[in-house]
Amino acid sequence: MHAEYGPAHADEQKYTLPVYAQLPFEPVRGRGAWLYDDDGRKVLDLYGGHAVAVLGYDHPALMQAVTTQLGRLPFQSNAIAMDVRAEAAKRLVEFAPAHLVRAFFVNSGAEANENALRLACLLTGRRRIVAVTHAFHGRTAAAAAVTWGSEKRWYGFPDRPFEVHFVPRDDVEAARAAFDEDTAAVIVEPVQGVAGAFDLNPAFLRALEEGAREAGALFIADEVQSGIGRSGLPFAIQHSGVRADIVTSAKSLGGGIPCGAVPTTAEVAADCRRGDLGTTFGGGPLAAAAITAVLQTIEGSMLMANAREREAQVRAECIIGPVESLQGKGLLLGLRCKVPAAEVRDALLERGILTGTSGDPHVLRLLPPLTIVDSDIHFLASRLAELPVEDKQ
Ligand code: PMP
Repeated sequence: MHAEYGPAHADEQKYTLPVYAQLPFEPVRGRGAWLYDDDGRKVLDLYGGHAVAVLGYDHPALMQAVTTQLGRLPFQSNAIAMDVRAEAAKRLVEFAPAHLVRAFFVNSGAEANENALRLACLLTGRRRIVAVTHAFHGRTAAAAAVTWGSEKRWYGFPDRPFEVHFVPRDDVEAARAAFDEDTAAVIVEPVQGVAGAFDLNPAFLRALEEGAREAGALFIADEVQSGIGRSGLPFAIQHSGVRADIVTSAKSLGGGIPCGAVPTTAEVAADCRRGDLGTTFGGGPLAAAAITAVLQTIEGSMLMANAREREAQVRAECIIGPVESLQGKGLLLGLRCKVPAAEVRDALLERGILTGTSGDPHVLRLLPPLTIVDSDIHFLASRLAELPVEDKQ
């Protein structure tokens, strides 16, 4: 396939703020894990719209759940109880580790983190947050404040909403020493997504947990990218045995319908009062219907087992061509390349495969639908094998 920009690119560049670099492919429909443009070009989507398309495209369970709800009652706010929202909340806390028993619904990953951090400061009365180097948590004020490097890139406000202490990632000693009596919480992605699917050492995560417990601070696991079965377990923090007090979720949660959620413990819930948090759209019925369909399908179709099997297959077949090693968990994978990852991404797109880059210039990211099959991985391996293995310069 020959990758080139189409008319939508020109108009988006003209009518929207110039904040995104865009790829030369304009899909107009999707089937399974495949995207199609108007000229008959098809591309295997191993990027999933930043990990959103967890069931691929046109999945019957998701389509039916959302279109049925659209016909019944497309919106009511949280001022009105709805069976579809109640069902989504029940499903989500049942899907999550057993100690997470309640959830607050929001609309995006940044908003989930914003509310988790707000809860931590509100409930502890403290003003300091521990975060991890290379982390990405979003572009709103609190989420950006705990994002590594945000002073230069995402933190456009004159001040942070709280004091932030960054621990060097995987430094166990620094993790234990990071807490004090004013620390409200630690926030960490168990697998750092934007950083290149960097799976943090379980001993480091446990040291953060220990430090938080001793200081009376909360442990927030940001699972916006790593959660909802992508790591091979419901949430990636479960691989380390750490007990998070708050988990934040978005992206895959609605399979393409915008939503987010903040599952938490009975202890945190007991300290919440009316009016502490709120949102108009969070927990809306279309999102709620989507959440139930996504979670039901992940469990019913054994997609977490598929994520583990496909990961094993990528490890066995895809360290080939420019790829020298692999990091990450399940279907949140980073392919470390001998050449710049952007060159590999562009060359793969020319060959009919969509992938993504990351914060690490040599790591290519895979965040495919959990429904991908073994022939998809064979296809990736065969295309990688065709690519140059050395840097152009
Ligand atoms: N947390 C993590 C770990 C993420 O990867 C992202 C998005 N890349 C966010 C938070 C922010 O999510 P959103 O773009 O939905 O606000």
